[in-house]
Amino acid sequence: MPILEGTIDITQKGETYREVCKLRRNNVFLTMEAIGKEVGVSRQRVRAILLKEKLPTKSVTKRTAVYCKVCESPTPNGQVVCPGKCREDHYYTYVECRACNRKIRYLKSYMKTRIKFGMNRYFYCSRECFYMGRRDGIS
Ligand SMILES: [Zn+2]
Ligand SMILES: [Zn+2]
Repeated sequence: MPILEGTIDITQKGETYREVCKLRRNNVFLTMEAIGKEVGVSRQRVRAILLKEKLPTKSVTKRTAVYCKVCESPTPNGQVVCPGKCREDHYYTYVECRACNRKIRYLKSYMKTRIKFGMNRYFYCSRECFYMGRRDGIS
């Protein structure tokens, strides 16, 4: 199976590799030099690892730091929210399907529109559930 971008299993990598990734993830203020010093490798090696992992090579400076709207820590790349979990929490919301109780993922902006137009009462995860809901008279 091909390895997808950004899903490289770093537990398979050497200790240096994992350390570099960990330092960058935990502290967006660290420069590549600082990471290299900490781990005991060259700046070039740090850069190569970060690029491979699609982690930011540029450090965030205290002055330009953008703080995540969800977890309030400085985000990598200066986005308004961190990628991954924070991004998910910021942009998406979950509701239960009225027929099967499965969680349905919606963009919050879409949900706002639904509420605005009074369409927020019933949610169905699929066409089948929609018909089941109607058949059972709960819609
Ligand atoms: Zn965050
Ligand atoms: Zn359903």
